[in-house]
Amino acid sequence: MVELGKNTSVLIVYTGGTIGMIENRETGALENFNFEQLQNHIPELKQTNCKIDSIQFDPPIDSSDMDPDAWRKLVKIISDNYDQYNGFVILHGTDTMAFTASALSFMLEGLSKPVILTGSQLPIGVLRTDGKENLMTSIEIASALDGEGKPMVPEVCIFFENHLMRGNRTTKLNAENFNAFRSFNYPVLAKAGIHIKYNKSIIHKENIDQVLKPHYLLGTNIAVLKLFPGMHENVVAATLAIDGLQAVVLETYGSGNAPQRKWFFRLLNEASKRGIVIVNVTQCCAGTVEMERYGTGLHLLNSGIVCGYDITTESAVTKLMFLLGHEYSPQQIRELMGQPLAGEITLG
Ligand code: ASP
Repeated sequence: MVELGKNTSVLIVYTGGTIGMIENRETGALENFNFEQLQNHIPELKQTNCKIDSIQFDPPIDSSDMDPDAWRKLVKIISDNYDQYNGFVILHGTDTMAFTASALSFMLEGLSKPVILTGSQLPIGVLRTDGKENLMTSIEIASALDGEGKPMVPEVCIFFENHLMRGNRTTKLNAENFNAFRSFNYPVLAKAGIHIKYNKSIIHKENIDQVLKPHYLLGTNIAVLKLFPGMHENVVAATLAIDGLQAVVLETYGSGNAPQRKWFFRLLNEASKRGIVIVNVTQCCAGTVEMERYGTGLHLLNSGIVCGYDITTESAVTKLMFLLGHEYSPQQIRELMGQPLAGEITLG
């Protein structure tokens, strides 16, 4: 039995994004407005049994401006208010929502309450907005308890267009349609129709002894290198020679393949030996890297490149930032990239 709303409380954190924007009548451009105005557009917010409080970023930001400082701010808000609320809803622009969700999944170690990120493709004030539905259902999910009074979804998720997805498995795939996000390599955690149907067997299980351990340190000396046919040696060489570079997400073809060029393997090998952690992530939306499958992938393995399995680029970047924020050696980071820390990869 699922108990919704009653005697529960949710903290909404409004960071910015389309969901809370309004059209400037003179210029036609979308501009941020505040959470109080947003509430006026959704009177239902005041009618639920659930106690809803809000905090807003001042000023609200377009998610293109999200960065590790903003993630730290979110972690601090959640950690400071952790005991007072059943769950948290973060209103966020869609453009970088998958990065924020991935980062939070690593930074909020030991999380045992729902943190649901949502936003919209059309502003709340617009008649056909998807924001109202996304927001109301996110609140319902963030406050949902099971028959034993435990949170239904004790993890960082994105809720968008009727689908609840594990945050660190998501990618923004559509700039036009309402279903802007997809979790290609992990099933949806819940679907919202007349009822919200939770896929309990694949949702992270809350461990009662779990204590929230917020992390604030992130290392950002990272590059993403996306392969394309005809890529010049000097592009790869210049990237790997970046001063202070500590890690690279190498976006390869298919199941983790790369061109068989001697200069390419030499450059990667030298960079690995210098302590740069290079992770093999596929350019494909779905599927996994299997470096032993083709000779081209095997060459990468022999050059010291680590397998990213079915990780998204968003998750690989933020996981590397998280690991670089600790005092791990490059070898320890390579090993941890091969282990799921927050359900971000599937092994074997
Ligand atoms: N540019 C906006 C943002 O990501 C788009 C959106 O909200 O969907 O903040």
